Amino acid sequence: MTRQPVFRFAPSPNGLLHLGHALSALINFHAAKLLGGRFLLRIEDIDVTRSRPEFEEAIYEDLHWLGLDWETPVRRQSEHRTTYAAALETLKQTVRLYPAFLSRKEIRAAIEGQNTEQPWPNDPDGAPHYPPMDRLRSQDDIKTRLSAGEAFALRLDMQAALASCPSSLNWRELSDTGQEQFITASPADWGDVLLARKDFPASYHLSVVVDDAEQGVTHVVRGHDLYHATSVHRLLQTVLGYEPPVYHHHRLVLDGDGRKLSKSLASTSLDSLRRDGKTPDDIRKMVGFSEPDLRAFQQY
Ligand code: GLU
Repeated sequence: MTRQPVFRFAPSPNGLLHLGHALSALINFHAAKLLGGRFLLRIEDIDVTRSRPEFEEAIYEDLHWLGLDWETPVRRQSEHRTTYAAALETLKQTVRLYPAFLSRKEIRAAIEGQNTEQPWPNDPDGAPHYPPMDRLRSQDDIKTRLSAGEAFALRLDMQAALASCPSSLNWRELSDTGQEQFITASPADWGDVLLARKDFPASYHLSVVVDDAEQGVTHVVRGHDLYHATSVHRLLQTVLGYEPPVYHHHRLVLDGDGRKLSKSLASTSLDSLRRDGKTPDDIRKMVGFSEPDLRAFQQY
């Protein structure tokens, strides 16, 4: 028997939902319906400084207004610290994680101080790779810092992790027309990725992978801006022994200048559009949501 498909929409409550989120939520909700599957909403609130209860409330209000419903209780990542801490422990037994102490300013200074001809590599999001300083610290140095109570994040020693994985990692991507493609993952593009923040025992990459596995998500459907992150997710799934979902990275809703929408741009928030008298149907039209957006799933 094949498994019942499970879809999820996973917003972060650090701002109001905009048209791009509406498209993502609509595709997930209707794809789940089309396939007789389940639709989950997950609140990704590990960023304790930027997440706010009023944004979480607004997510529920906007999505209900759009005509969506989902299973309850809703999973809130902030309530699953121990699950992520356990995943970190498992990772520590197989791959090398190291405490990362540098602040943003120190990262910049370390990179500027590098004596190399080559330009410093950036990750696919445009952030510089984490400099090797913390990876190269002696055990004594690390111990001294930890016992002094210095705050630290945890990062993955990427080269060591790759050496312990199969030489080629890939993922199944459903194209817009419903073709299944095998995409080669290239986690090395991210350098030593963050796996736990200084203030929470998980990062975006770790929490998303753990939650998708724990919630039995079979179809990860999200915007194309997260396409490259899937490389890291496949690496973590492999090391943690999780069954990988199938992926579909959908088109993004762009502003008039062809840029990706941002939460800081209030004019495209669902909340302000609703206040301006727009209807859920207007929103579907504005994002161009229609039958072709579901073609990816027709055979799955
Ligand atoms: N929480 C992420 C965001 O709001 C989405 C995570 C995902 O779909 O993998 O961008």
